[in-house]
Amino acid sequence: MRRRLIAANWKLNGSGAFATEYADAMVPALEGLDPAVEVAIMPPAILVPTLRDALNCEGGRRVMVGVQDVSAWETGAYTGEIGALMAADQHCSFAIVGHSERRQYFGETDELVNSKIHQALAAGLDPILCVGESLEEREAGNTLSVVGRQIERGLDGVPGSDWRHVCVAYEPVWAIGTGKSASAQEAQTVHAHIRSLLADYDRGASEIPIIYGGSVKPETAEELFAQPDIDGGLIGGASLSATDFAAICRAA
Ligand code: PGA
Repeated sequence: MRRRLIAANWKLNGSGAFATEYADAMVPALEGLDPAVEVAIMPPAILVPTLRDALNCEGGRRVMVGVQDVSAWETGAYTGEIGALMAADQHCSFAIVGHSERRQYFGETDELVNSKIHQALAAGLDPILCVGESLEEREAGNTLSVVGRQIERGLDGVPGSDWRHVCVAYEPVWAIGTGKSASAQEAQTVHAHIRSLLADYDRGASEIPIIYGGSVKPETAEELFAQPDIDGGLIGGASLSATDFAAICRAA
């Protein structure tokens, strides 16, 4: 049985008050959700302690927290960076790594992304490696090769014993924040390709959960998550509403 994960990516949104209200709404909204579905929220790192404390009320379901990025370095003179060990120290369980917005606006290369994957794993975080093609790359027929390169370089040197901590998110860049989701069939095709690439590593790697991201909404979640190789979602815009995010978790 592969893991199923629904993860929220708040991006550059939120405040202390927002995090507290969100948690207050989430806890009852997730009551009765299949306990096998893992739910994680990645607020801006500075809100992690507030959100974590607000979520972990007595008797509530376990909702994990994580960060949207980690430094490629462990510690030292890197102003503004947040290290994987610091995130783990604040009880984060996950780290998004290599999101297309980081690749696009902050020039992150596959090599830097790979260092971040290693930092996250060494700190005991489960990295969510984001991969996905731009519209140009899709139109040129390069979707599978682009995604293949990002997987191969991003996971370079990850030992087999760490596969069970790795997640992959397929997020076509043209579908992020645009309201234009990939169709369930388009997404399934790429997920199946990623699954076969991972299976080439070994059996453990073929069990890595592959989640879909890009304009997932409560109305589209069910069909996406029903695909055989889609193990959940990475939710941006729709995760800013606790009600919508809870509805998406229920579709898993
Ligand atoms: P979106 O973002 O759901 O707003 O498209 C997804 C993501 O970037 O992780």
